[in-house]
Amino acid sequence: MPKEIFLDSIQKKIERTIEFNELSSQIAKQIRIPRRVVKFQVPVIKDNGKKEIFLGYRSQHNNTLGPYKGGIRFHPRVSEKEVVALSILMSLKTSLVGLPFGGAKGGVTVNPFNLSRRELEEVSRQYVREVFPFIGPDTDIPAPDVNTNPQIMAWMVDEYSKLAGKFTPESFTGKPIELRGLKGRKEATGYGAFVVLEKLKEIYNFSPKKTTLAIQGFGNVGEHFAKYAFEKGYKIVALSEKNGGIYLKQGLDPEKVSECREINNKIAGCYCRGSVCDFQEGKEISNKELLELDVDVLVPAAVESVITKENAPNIKAKYILSIANGPLTEKGEAILMKNNKIIVPDILVNAGGVIASYLEWVQGKERQLKNKKEVLREVSKKIGQAFDRVWEFKKEKGISSGEAAFSLALTRIANNIK
Ligand code: NAD
Repeated sequence: MPKEIFLDSIQKKIERTIEFNELSSQIAKQIRIPRRVVKFQVPVIKDNGKKEIFLGYRSQHNNTLGPYKGGIRFHPRVSEKEVVALSILMSLKTSLVGLPFGGAKGGVTVNPFNLSRRELEEVSRQYVREVFPFIGPDTDIPAPDVNTNPQIMAWMVDEYSKLAGKFTPESFTGKPIELRGLKGRKEATGYGAFVVLEKLKEIYNFSPKKTTLAIQGFGNVGEHFAKYAFEKGYKIVALSEKNGGIYLKQGLDPEKVSECREINNKIAGCYCRGSVCDFQEGKEISNKELLELDVDVLVPAAVESVITKENAPNIKAKYILSIANGPLTEKGEAILMKNNKIIVPDILVNAGGVIASYLEWVQGKERQLKNKKEVLREVSKKIGQAFDRVWEFKKEKGISSGEAAFSLALTRIANNIK
């Protein structure tokens, strides 16, 4: 789906939420569009001596609750509208889980896989030089996102510190552990989504052993989510990555699948159960087939807009756990709602990442290291409380969990603006 439609669909949801909660038009104006969008050139001297210019962005949506917070992505499809849409989602997410942060997002329109390590470092440092006047530990704290990682954050902190004239690790989160990064950060988003699954289990009374899961996306979040769910006894019958997926009726062991992928460089053929990885009944499936499997819980954990009006009528799962940002198009979601599916929205399900980022920021400021157990306990507490608030509001108003989450998040921002 074109990114324009992604932004449109978020803005339409905001309009409906503003109307439903009768927020004043003055406040509505401040929430509909970002406070500031910075767009700039990112010039880089390539290894061949030629200069190439990429486009960079930072969208700062709202800072009523605290400094702006949000990742930076390096991807050829990054556009102004995409970062704006994602910055709005960040404001809602931080608000929903009660963090003292606003929402932002940034990016560079570049394919990082076509760059050498030196060129990648130059893009990262140049990005910081351009946004330096607008970011900082109490202004806007960026983090990794699609195709950016702790190494890139390390370059960025270094560049920021040089410009600021002092070591400033709290200017970025998602840093390497050695550079005041946070233990448990890489597990936090998947763990938070697992906490949501456990909450659903309590409410709808399902038994893990009898509950089947299909997970689209076996990256940082999908993989950790799968491991926690498997440990608890859930039956993961399908997993996928960009080029396709695997299915095993008896249920896959995600730990073994990742070990197998280490060797093969892909998950195809990795039908692992216990120590056996070549189950005869295992088969390869497409991402399209995965989404339409007859499972209890469908977990889109890859990219946005994968559930559309075309495939929504074929979706059989009763529960949809949105780990990816914006995995449902507006029309796709409407069809699922009509079919009585329970959809848990992204701003709740994947908030574990920003909760951990908050802890990393506090750790940087207090100069006191936190351990992984503390981090995951805090993620569980904050996600659990947010889930309870959403479910209570949903019941009270007779609305969907997505509408309830948007309502609570926007109302908290609106009250602070007031
Ligand atoms: P990742 O890059 O580590 O993994 C993405 C996975 O999706 C990979 O397995 C990849 O092969 C697969 N994939 C990519 N394109 C696909 C396609 N078109 N169809 C099917 N599969 C595809 O990314 P991640 O960090 O795991 O993030 C996944 C989603 O979760 C993204 O939407 C991201 O914005 C969201 N998210 C991540 C975090 C975090 O902490 N990493 C936090 C909040 C939200």
